[in-house]
Amino acid sequence: MRLILLGPPGSGKGTQAQRLVQQHGIVQLSTGDMLRAAVAAQTPIGLKAKDIMAAGGLVPDEVVVGIIADRIEQPDAVNGFILDGFPRTVPQAEALDELLKKKRMTLDAVIELRVNEGVLLERVERRAAETRARGEAVRQDDTPEVLTKRLASYRDQTEPLIHYYSDHRMLATVDGMMPIEQVTAEISRILAAVGKGGTSRAAKKPSPAKRSAKAPAKSAKKATKKAAKAVAPAKKAGKTAKKAAKSVKKAPKKASKAAAKASKATKGTRKTSAKSAKKHAKR
Ligand code: AMP
Repeated sequence: MRLILLGPPGSGKGTQAQRLVQQHGIVQLSTGDMLRAAVAAQTPIGLKAKDIMAAGGLVPDEVVVGIIADRIEQPDAVNGFILDGFPRTVPQAEALDELLKKKRMTLDAVIELRVNEGVLLERVERRAAETRARGEAVRQDDTPEVLTKRLASYRDQTEPLIHYYSDHRMLATVDGMMPIEQVTAEISRILAAVGKGGTSRAAKKPSPAKRSAKAPAKSAKKATKKAAKAVAPAKKAGKTAKKAAKSVKKAPKKASKAAAKASKATKGTRKTSAKSAKKHAKR
């Protein structure tokens, strides 16, 4: 399983990543953590990154891309990884696509944790207080001034990734304002759907160059098949039907259309679940 967690500082990416690590036996690759380690060890990369990080700016793309390129090849990443804090810019996302292609790896999902900016300062202040209470050193960039800059970087340079991955039919958005447990549950639902072929890769649309008005997109066909699979088991029992409906909840447009088609095909047996699948998928 290979995932990207997207969200502003304080959105809970780190917390959710740790839970996913335990649940799925994959590694969390946080470029922020790696850079902080490099700063502490005073490596050449650390020396380069130190002031930029302290000021709340972004370390150059080639530096972080280089770090990730090495890291995803390590043996502990063989089962999969969660990218936390990477990519942060469109060029980083493009470089990641290239990298994964070269290594014949694929991404399963990009999960955005959406939060109100208003609560972030509060959350980061709480994180700093908790760290202090544990007797650990507080991050230099967890101050209100630097956080404001980090949020501006997020808005200007990272938010465009939401469109990037949404265009690639990879994005699922989770309400990061919910309690931690609920966010985890929602992420699990999305991942279960990915595993069953309900979202992301199933609905990944082709690059604009490949898309043509004539030829129906291959991926749309795949999406139809996979979404149908997600809905088909619903024939068996009412309970399963509900689950299937949930599994297409976050499916992007093409998958949702496909789900609707599939639902029609099995209409008589589980009208209700088909309706709710369609309704959720439209959201
Ligand atoms: P984080 O722990 O993810 O909040 O990252 C802390 C700091 O490390 C950021 O404010 C940036 O200065 C730097 N950083 C982490 N990841 C990246 C990245 N992908 N691209 C550029 N800078 C990064």
